[in-house]
Amino acid sequence: MTAYPTLKLFIAGQWIEAGEAGTMDVVNPATGAVIAQCPKAGPAQLDAALKAAGDAFPAWSATSGAERHAILRRAADLLRERAPEIAKVVTAEMGKPRAQAVGEITGSVDVIHFLGEEAKRRGGRLIPTRGNQLIAQMVTHEPIGPAVLLTPWNFPVNLPAKKIAGALAAGCTAILKPAENTPGSAQLLVECFVDAGVPAGVLNLVHGDPGPIAEHLVASPVTRKVSFTGSTAVGKQLGALAATHMKRFAPELGGHAPVIVSKHADLARAVTMCATTKFRNAGQVCVSPTRFLVAREVYDQFVAEFAAIAGKIKVGDAGADESVEMGPLAHARRVAAMEQVVADTGGNRGEVVTGGSVIESTGYFFQPTVIANPAPDSRFMLEEPFGPIAGIVPFDTIEDAVGIANSLRYGLAAYAFSGNLDEAHYLGKSLRAGMVGINQLIVSSPETPFGGVGDSGFGSEGGEEGYLAFTDTKLVMLAKAGG
Ligand code: NAD
Repeated sequence: MTAYPTLKLFIAGQWIEAGEAGTMDVVNPATGAVIAQCPKAGPAQLDAALKAAGDAFPAWSATSGAERHAILRRAADLLRERAPEIAKVVTAEMGKPRAQAVGEITGSVDVIHFLGEEAKRRGGRLIPTRGNQLIAQMVTHEPIGPAVLLTPWNFPVNLPAKKIAGALAAGCTAILKPAENTPGSAQLLVECFVDAGVPAGVLNLVHGDPGPIAEHLVASPVTRKVSFTGSTAVGKQLGALAATHMKRFAPELGGHAPVIVSKHADLARAVTMCATTKFRNAGQVCVSPTRFLVAREVYDQFVAEFAAIAGKIKVGDAGADESVEMGPLAHARRVAAMEQVVADTGGNRGEVVTGGSVIESTGYFFQPTVIANPAPDSRFMLEEPFGPIAGIVPFDTIEDAVGIANSLRYGLAAYAFSGNLDEAHYLGKSLRAGMVGINQLIVSSPETPFGGVGDSGFGSEGGEEGYLAFTDTKLVMLAKAGG
């Protein structure tokens, strides 16, 4: 049995069980069963969280980087200790297999360590003066102020961890509003920071309906920064709201990552990596490799081998069976979205070579699905599926492949496989994306920036950028006092 926590809000250093706006169900997507009630914050509780974050900011921003690092390091160590138990809650809330949940949490530990260290490491710079009366021109990075952190459900520990660690390391206070369906994972993460000694008001946690909560928090004069991970549609709405109130806004949005497989690729390696990575987290990953563009010379072999691997993936309730490789989708609405993508195939619009159907159960399961030759104007080719559907398209020249890869407004991750050095350089340079993986499908590490271009958002999380994202640049020009 999973030890699921009693869900609470955390405001001004107090855990609060009763939500002013009532409660909402938390559902296990593998079974459809309600596993908990989550309190929903109302306007007075949101105002209390804003006041707490505002009141705590002067003292927290005045602490030394070394003090902040010490607390973040303790939080990361607690998260590592508690990973096995927290992983069970992640699986219960959003369905990913336990090993993937543990990997997500241990990856988050490294992210918190790195960003905590940035608090000690990241200085400003001295710019040479033009002589005369000037002594120094000093550039510093000042904490922006209270930050609102809005996170989704697909990485319910890692995404909040990245944002909390960046904000707190930089000297900002924060209000976290996690996804409605993964409140327990966020709560257990916040507990690590609290138990590590984060002072009251520095980190607050609220739950509830995302639209009204985001509007309330973003519009408040207390809030100075809004960091959002989620869909492009919601990102555009929040960006407009943030702009109205002149708030710094960081959107990390959707993607529809292309993967170019050249005739010069190590095909066996490429197909195995692509088919296994595609279905990780049931494809609900913003950098999931999804549009496979394959050289015509090796296309048939790639499709056959990819579909064979996809067809053998064991799908089920990962919380009940450790051998399950792919869990459910996080919501019933994600299953409906997969059905719509598949409905737009057939005839000359694409052929489903494996999968394509809902798996009948009380949970939200969809088969690992491969569509061969989807039409250029099909739903699959134009919209991010954000689920276990891959499409494979043949190409004749590498330039054609780049043209298809760059044809969407998304630009988060892009990948390519090629054993030809010149071609690999060309692909790395010409793919339009915030992150490009060549001969591998990983574009994220604690030390490196993570972010997109175009409709995938702007700015970066992770790496030194993940710290600087929560700072304002300040210049101090110091001149002689006289003569
Ligand atoms: P959704 O847009 O309904 O919800 C996504 C997230 O946004 C949820 O966590 C929700 O809490 C939040 N949200 C929704 N409306 C909001 C609002 N008005 N203000 C603030 N937050 C709000 O989509 P979904 O069906 O849950 O997820 C699928 C889509 O979301 C995909 O298209 C995908 O692009 C996107 N998504 C992206 C990421 C990512 O890592 N970039 C993660 C999860 C979801």
